[in-house]
Amino acid sequence: MDPEIYNWGPHRYNSYTWKMKALFGERLQKLAIDAGFSCPNRDGSRGSGGCTYCVNEAFNPSYCESTSSITEQIRLGIEFHSVRYRRANKFLAYFQPYSNTYAPLEVLKERYSEALSYPGVVGLVLGTRPDCLEDETLDYLSALARDYFVQVEFGLESIYERSLERINRCHTVEEGVDAIKKTHAMGISTGAHFIFGLPGETSEMMHKYADFISALPLDSVKFHQLQFIKGTVMEKEFIEKPGDFHQFTLESYIDFIISFLEELSPLISIERFAGEVPPRYIKDHNWGLLRYDEVLRRIEKELEKRGTWQGKKVAK
Ligand code: SF4
Repeated sequence: MDPEIYNWGPHRYNSYTWKMKALFGERLQKLAIDAGFSCPNRDGSRGSGGCTYCVNEAFNPSYCESTSSITEQIRLGIEFHSVRYRRANKFLAYFQPYSNTYAPLEVLKERYSEALSYPGVVGLVLGTRPDCLEDETLDYLSALARDYFVQVEFGLESIYERSLERINRCHTVEEGVDAIKKTHAMGISTGAHFIFGLPGETSEMMHKYADFISALPLDSVKFHQLQFIKGTVMEKEFIEKPGDFHQFTLESYIDFIISFLEELSPLISIERFAGEVPPRYIKDHNWGLLRYDEVLRRIEKELEKRGTWQGKKVAK
């Protein structure tokens, strides 16, 4: 058994970028949009204060501001990416910050439709929480998925209740699992996001994510290493109790990711292995100022060097 049995092109892992390129016949560019939604963990309906690590601005590209219309953000996003990368002709509107299914259906329809009416936009990616996806929204997205690519990306962050409580997520693991199963069953592409390095989690505990994730009907996943954003509750907690955190050096993170990948189902695509926050938001750059492309290059090189691949230890 080797990775050539999979349609992964030059990769030793199931690359989301590669899969999407194969699906659409060309490279797609994701354009982040801040559509002005809120979050039930900030407005008091589920919790207040938000997750202890959250500063939405730190994860948003500069062109993405809710004060501009969705159309204008898409125009600026296309312009932004075309000076950095080869120009793409097809785009995914990525509703990124806050909870992008958290509004009455009529409001959601209006905002999604504005994005889909922009020339070249072939689909939606909606970042959200597991506890804010109403059945009527799912029905609508399921119908939309017949004509467009539609993906819902859930922030699960951890597979441990204790961790979710500690980071003030204000939803449970079970809610995450239910939302994934329900969304997938409706024919909608289903993604999830996890963080490695949350307080109280050891490397052994993080390895257990692989079996847990592999058992879910997920199309894609994103992984981030925990980063301490300036001014957050998480940063304060780290300063007070650094021993509660398993901190990765770049080398130990790559080592962890390689062995983790071997245990992860080869059927799930991976969109990201690590996060990248603009340097002004973090005090301690223990990985230097390395860009994500370089982290990815090193992971791919290490997979090659070790002659291993995603799912090597689980594939029959
Ligand atoms: S759910 Fe998302 S937007 Fe809301 S507080 Fe947590 S990280 Fe921030």
